[in-house]
Amino acid sequence: MRILLHVCCGPCSTAVIEQLKKEGHELILFFPNSNIYPASEREKRKIYAKKVSEIYGCEFIFEDYEHGAWRDFVSGLESEPQGGARCKKCFEMNLRKTALKALELGIENFTTTLTVSRFKKSPLVISVGLRVGASVGVNFLDYDFKKRGGYERSVELAKKFGLYQQNYCGCEFSLR
Ligand code: SF4
Repeated sequence: MRILLHVCCGPCSTAVIEQLKKEGHELILFFPNSNIYPASEREKRKIYAKKVSEIYGCEFIFEDYEHGAWRDFVSGLESEPQGGARCKKCFEMNLRKTALKALELGIENFTTTLTVSRFKKSPLVISVGLRVGASVGVNFLDYDFKKRGGYERSVELAKKFGLYQQNYCGCEFSLR
């Protein structure tokens, strides 16, 4: 299958790409991620995600940084705990952008690296992906990449490739 893969960062991408490539899929990586703050951090994560795309020989596409639009989208949810309503909206923004990009490129399937992180609830990510995919008309692949040691493998590969590994989720509220 051709799959547009939403990538949140370099380290999380590694094990996911490895698994999907082993399954024989053709991948195009997509980096929207206006949730990341500050701009310098977003740029750093983008550079390392691109590095991973080069390691695995995948095309890499990114969007301009629009953190103000992301702030507007999660407005009123600033005090939510990590894993709560703000994160659900955050997933929605990135997954909707990915679904729309897939539609634009004529790619039938999309999925995300978000489920590989042990800090993110896979059922929540998957439910948002399925809903967004259905509304845009692109097939969301409901992988839970944490399964079968995906997170541990991503840590191992990030070390092997010398990738930058951040110590917070991304937005200014997760810096607290
Ligand atoms: S904590 Fe992470 S998932 Fe939640 S809103 Fe912030 S960047 Fe998005």
